Amino acid sequence: MLAQFAVGDILGKQRRFFETGKTKDVSFRLEQLRLLKQAIADNEAAILQSLQADLNKPDVEAYLGEIGFCLSEISYALKHLRSWTKPRKISLPAIQLPGSAALYYEPLGVVLVMGAWNYPFQLAIAPVIGAIAAGNCAIVKPSELAPNTSRLVADIIKKYFNPDFVTVVEGGVETSKRLLEQKFDYIFFTGGTEIGKIVMAAAAKHLTPVTLELGGKTPCIVDADTHLEYTARRIAWGKFMNAGQTCVAPDYLLVNKIIKQDLLEEIKKSIREFYGDDPAHSQDYCRIINQTHFNRLSELLKSGEIVIGGDTNPADRYIAPTVIDGVDREAAVMKDEIFGPILPVIEYTDLSEAIALVNSKPKPLALYFFSRDKQKQEKVLRETSSGGACINDTVMQFAVTDLPFGGVGASGIGSYHGKASFETFSHQRSVLNKSFLVDFKLRYAPYQGKLGFLKRLIK
Ligand code: NAD
Repeated sequence: MLAQFAVGDILGKQRRFFETGKTKDVSFRLEQLRLLKQAIADNEAAILQSLQADLNKPDVEAYLGEIGFCLSEISYALKHLRSWTKPRKISLPAIQLPGSAALYYEPLGVVLVMGAWNYPFQLAIAPVIGAIAAGNCAIVKPSELAPNTSRLVADIIKKYFNPDFVTVVEGGVETSKRLLEQKFDYIFFTGGTEIGKIVMAAAAKHLTPVTLELGGKTPCIVDADTHLEYTARRIAWGKFMNAGQTCVAPDYLLVNKIIKQDLLEEIKKSIREFYGDDPAHSQDYCRIINQTHFNRLSELLKSGEIVIGGDTNPADRYIAPTVIDGVDREAAVMKDEIFGPILPVIEYTDLSEAIALVNSKPKPLALYFFSRDKQKQEKVLRETSSGGACINDTVMQFAVTDLPFGGVGASGIGSYHGKASFETFSHQRSVLNKSFLVDFKLRYAPYQGKLGFLKRLIK
């Protein structure tokens, strides 16, 4: 457990470093981003190894979802940072002339980044890219549930960075609580909705702004007018990658009754294509993060009729890619976010039924809809709400740098990725700059005779 004075000490040092003004220099930020890129590239093999140890994560998934993702975020920030940091001109109404106005992007100060365990490298590092780009100091707390990656992130950051600028604090819930008692200038949290509330309550004591990247039950709706083979493959990929432990994985399937059997057949084929006849022996299939989650998920297997998969091995924390049909809308598997390789299936006859079910639950982090019908695509987008959405694919919206990523309602507050990361960790300071050229007396007393003219000017 990290002693309270130690947390305060680290924070104090970072605050003093921030006050030197060094991080306001854009060249310094670019240099530190290049250093982070180098650090990741130098340690690629070790990162792959730690992800393998924590989640049995295959190299391709680890590269796509963690290493490569962070590298491309850094490259993007390196390319655009000079233009992002320039004051953005704002046009002025006639009454304000002569003068000019602009938005200046200021760093916030010392920020806290708390990561989750499912993409333990990416979720610790990606927010730091935004924090550095915007000129902040950062304390990072990776998830204790992925201990190998947490240790490695701490080692890498320690080796490459001045701890007064960026540092890692490792530890469990007690450490998180100690950190949250401190006054940070921003808190960026990734994790479950319930912990998100604890984080926000702690932040409120200091009036610290937050980004909460949370989860939820992401629906996947499939209309009869779809490309069955591609639909099945894209759903199976998004659901069973990382053994379903992905915040934007399709949580449950809502499928038009007419095509349900055909779609399930295609999903079965895709699973076999990805992981062979027995996914337990596939090199490409992850394991459940710990025994607690394994036990929780094993209970959910009882929620209906298992039509694909269902095998488990507690010794290995293995749960096969599983599809459950005949699921009651009130079943346990339909209550909280599943966060594992179990896909419950509910059929519908009319699209409005599916939409009503989605809207009966808290707003999810993502929503997927498969259909060729443009009008139905518009209907689903218009009549539902979610953090993000993707038509005719799953998960891929996460990887579009220019699409800000975040939740709405119970699935989170704020967003990041690409420029949104820079904006998240910046204060947009509104600045009006007036000229001495003239000084119109219209706004000054005495007011007599001025109202009519003002009314013509301001409407
Ligand atoms: P977790 O258990 O790793 O917790 C995240 C952080 O919260 C850790 O640093 C942990 O120390 C801290 N924490 C845990 N209990 C705490 C407490 N009582 N007080 C203070 N801090 C505490 O992660 P998790 O919550 O199990 O993560 C899984 C959830 O994260 C899922 O709901 C998933 O959807 C969501 N998630 C969201 C995103 C996103 O980008 N929106 C990404 C990944 C995961």
